Amino acid sequence: MNRIDYVKNLLDKDVAVCKHTTDIYDLRKIIAFLKSENNVIYSENCECGLSNRKHKSYVKDWAI
Ligand SMILES: [Zn+2]
Repeated sequence: MNRIDYVKNLLDKDVAVCKHTTDIYDLRKIIAFLKSENNVIYSENCECGLSNRKHKSYVKDWAI
């Protein structure tokens, strides 16, 4: 499974993803790509605790 499918799969399962929980450091680009494919994705401040730096997590929005 490629990284885009991997991320999409997690989002479809209502899992919030961030670069630390996925180990994908260019996650932002993947999210941008998925948004361009008509997926509605919210970003919020991530609280995974895996990094002290502020970063975003992404979650799918089902309400259309
Ligand atoms: Zn995080």
